Amino acid sequence: MKILLTNDDGIHAEGLAALRDAVAEFGDVLIVAPETEQSATGHSITLHEPLRVRPAGRGSARRAYALRGTPADCVKIAVRAILKGLPDLLISGINPGPNLGVSMLYSGTVSAALEGASLGIQSMAVSLAVDSGVVPDYAPALDRVRHLVGWIKRRSLPKGTALNVNVPPIDSRRISGIRLTRQGRSRFEEFFDRRIDPRKKAYYWLDGDLVELEQGDDVDYVAVRKGFVSVTPIHTDLTDYRQLDKLRDLSDDPLPSRPAEPEYSEGADGHP
Ligand code: MN
Repeated sequence: MKILLTNDDGIHAEGLAALRDAVAEFGDVLIVAPETEQSATGHSITLHEPLRVRPAGRGSARRAYALRGTPADCVKIAVRAILKGLPDLLISGINPGPNLGVSMLYSGTVSAALEGASLGIQSMAVSLAVDSGVVPDYAPALDRVRHLVGWIKRRSLPKGTALNVNVPPIDSRRISGIRLTRQGRSRFEEFFDRRIDPRKKAYYWLDGDLVELEQGDDVDYVAVRKGFVSVTPIHTDLTDYRQLDKLRDLSDDPLPSRPAEPEYSEGADGHP
């Protein structure tokens, strides 16, 4: 089994090393991870800077590369330029902190898995739901990762679907099991901490808390709080299917009359 690993915490992250050790028994492991931390960069890609790749393997991880780019860049370059083909499995993580509810949208960890799924790779994102500032113990997550990889190997994931996996930060024996969940409705209560730098200029630092807007048993953050490993199938289709019918009328709305042509003339490049 060819396994590609990446993350959004950077090539030196402890969670990535733990993940590598967890999956080594399943086959060939290639790591392509960001050179520096890229948490909360979402699905961004690099178009206006060169993508520098540096061999970063040591010891048992000879096939490791650090990329000066984002998690989505890592997946693309691994497939198109390093492997020149699709791996059998992509795992992104292990992120030290939850990626639940609306956090998924901002998460580089989750976006790497979605990028993998959109390229046709069986993919999952793995996060350990520790609070920030807590030193993570990855051991319980590693058992669960091995369990899920074994399952994927036997059963395989539907094309285009990735798994968003969040492990509760508790002892392995206390984990209640795996619960299939959906992304819980939530929003961020954000605030900007205003500070003054040594040159007396103000700057801001963003912080915030996830506000949970529902409490059903099938909700991702509820499952994790109750001691389950939350597994949510996700995909890149952002269509709001529930609203398609309600908005059908929009396409029947008559077009407004055309505005008058502009009076200035445009150059060949489209600029006046
Ligand atoms: Mn991260």
